[in-house]
Order: sequence, then structure tokens, then C-alpha cells
Amino acid sequence: MSDKLSPGCGKPAVRGYSILLVSFALILILAVSCGDEKLVQSSRLVFGTSCSISAPADADVESVWKRLAELDDSLGAHNLDSELSRLNGRAGQGWVNVSEDLHRAIELALEMAEASGGAFNPALGNLVELWGIGGENPKVPEQAQIDRALGHSDWKNIELGPDDTVRILDPELKIDLGAIGKGFAADEAARMLAEQGIDSALLNFGGNIMTVGRRPDGKMFRIGIQAPFEQRNSYNQVVRIAGESVVTSGVYERCFTGEDGTLYHHILNPDTGYPALSGLLSVTIIGPESAICDGLSTACFVLGVERGLALLEGFPGYRAIFILEDGSAVPYGISI
Ligand code: FAD
Ligand code: MG
Repeated sequence: MSDKLSPGCGKPAVRGYSILLVSFALILILAVSCGDEKLVQSSRLVFGTSCSISAPADADVESVWKRLAELDDSLGAHNLDSELSRLNGRAGQGWVNVSEDLHRAIELALEMAEASGGAFNPALGNLVELWGIGGENPKVPEQAQIDRALGHSDWKNIELGPDDTVRILDPELKIDLGAIGKGFAADEAARMLAEQGIDSALLNFGGNIMTVGRRPDGKMFRIGIQAPFEQRNSYNQVVRIAGESVVTSGVYERCFTGEDGTLYHHILNPDTGYPALSGLLSVTIIGPESAICDGLSTACFVLGVERGLALLEGFPGYRAIFILEDGSAVPYGISI
């Protein structure tokens, strides 16, 4: 596996795309068709991306948005005032009391790290900051900077204690929950809507889809999986779900073109410190919990098809579609 992406993430057709267009694909990653006249959609900018909730007019969506803002304030690494940033600021200083949300999200992230042999790594905060992908000034770091960041990215240095406490043993380690946070939030939003007695809703958090029940017409929701680098609304596959989540991690969501024309994306290989090159353009996971789908999609992307399929065997009920660099699809537990 080479450390550097070839132009267009291995797909020459992408060379002519502007960064703006490629970044915009984050929102277009999954298009949704539901024929849902009875669902009212509201949208907000949360988690650094466009999020929407489609729910019946009588749903208390405002309380869900309020809760999502709380989770953004807690789990985000971009906001220096977030609870996570404050925890990172106390790395190496012993046990820290955190909210139940942050404790649970870190717990899920550590479980995914363990299950994936570290391919999913919530301790990559320094590396994520260094590359700055998705921000205003992304750049290819110096090798010495990458080596230094990798030297402080051992997720085993994050420990969970009782009563919602966490300690970071390495004073220079920074936790990043970008690969699981939106899924965690989607599960919480769906749970809140279900508790209100809502039996049909569709959540789209920057391409991270979660559904409550079926469409109002009783049919399953149909989720189109964007064909990587193709025109908007060209679907590679369409999956049908009810009460489940569909999450995609791909090279075309957040990326930038380096001075040499090489395209660098945001899913990092914790071994090399560079964007993961695993022969894939995207991985879509379908399953009951959005946080698990989110974690698995990132982990499987880093692992590639063969090791990704082995990981999925430990997660009964979760299905997948791997899109290879040539655009062909490898399904797992699902007919396409
Ligand atoms: P995923 O594959 O799910 O995750 C990729 C992201 O996870 C990377 O961007 C990086 O942050 C991290 N990562 C990279 N490699 C690995 C790895 N091997 N293992 C584990 N994690 C890895 N973006 C903004 O621009 N501004 C914001 O203010 C902002 N706030 C956010 C607040 C919250 C609570 C969350 C959850 C996200 C926020 N984001 C923000 C977006 C975030 O930085 C990521 O871009 C986004 O979550 C990526 O999600 P994804 O589904 O596209 O990709
Ligand atoms: Mg993810």
C-alpha cells in the first residue's frame, strides 16, 4: 500500500473536479427518495455540516435540535470550547469528570478501535489537525510532523473510569470523535422521536442517514448511495431500510488537491499517517445503530475489502457495500 494517493484518489476522472465540487458531495453523498408528503423537513447546520430532520408536522423537532446542539457542544473537536476540547486540554492530568454523552461516545469509539485492531482510532486528533482536511487551509504535512503526531496517537492511552470519568495518559494525545459522533447523535435523535410516539422519520446528518419506522405510506425508505465522483443523484445502488441507518465513508466527501495534483482525503491510515489507500472509493454500512454504522464505515474503509469483511463478521445484523476504485460494488449481507 502506497502512502500517497494518485491523482483523483486512483480515479483519473476526478482530476478536473474543483475542491468545491468534491467537498459539496458530502451533502449529496446519499440522496433520499421517500414520497413522503406527510413528513415536514427542517434543516440546520450542526456538526459542521448540513443536517435535516423529516418528521410528521406534530413532532417536537425543536427539542431534538436543542439536544443535537448539546451533543455538538460536547463531542466536537473543532470548537475550542467543546467539552471534548476541554478534556483534550487536560491530557496527562489524571481523571476528568465528563458528561454521560462524552463518556459513552468515547466508550463506543474505544470498542470500535479494539474490534478493528486500531484501524478505527479515536486518538488521531493531532494528525487530523495537522492535515486540516475539511478546514480552510488543508496541507500535506512534513514527514517529521506526521511522525510526531503518530507518536501521540495510541488509543490505549485513553482510559475510562467509573462515574463518567476519563483520563488521557499521554499529555500530547488528542481525542477526535469525527468518525462516530454524527452516528451517535443520529441514534439519540431517533430515540427521542420514537419516545414521542413518532413512527416515521428520516434523519440526514451530512449523509449519515437514520430512519424511524417506515415511510408514512407504509413502504420502506429508499436510500440512494451516490456513485463516487459521478454526477449528483447518480446512484451506485439503492438500499431499502426501515428503522435502520445507512452510513457512508468515502474519499470524495472531504478532500483537497495538493500542489502536485494529488487528491488527499480525510480518512487517515493510523499506521502511515496518510489518507488510507485501501483500493476503495467508499464503504456503506447498513444496520440498526447509526454509531456502529459510522464507526464500521470508517474502520472498513481503512481496512479494505478483505479485512473489512472479516471485521463485519463480528457485527451480526450489519450489512455493507464496498465500492472499489474501478466503481464495482462488493456487497456483504445484502443483495444488489
Ligand atoms: P467518517 O469516515 O465517519 O470520519 C472521518 C473523520 O474521522 C475524519 O474527518 C477525522 O476527523 C476522523 N478520522 C480520520 N481517520 C480516522 C481513523 N482511522 N479512525 C477514526 N477517526 C478517523 N467539521 C467542521 O468542518 N467544522 C465543525 O465545526 C465540525 N464540528 C463537528 C462536531 C461534531 C460533534 C462532529 C461529530 C463532527 C464535526 N465536524 C465538523 C465534522 C468532522 O470533522 C468530520 O469531517 C466528519 O464527522 C466526518 O464524518 P464522515 O461521515 O464524513 O467521515
Ligand atoms: Mg464514520
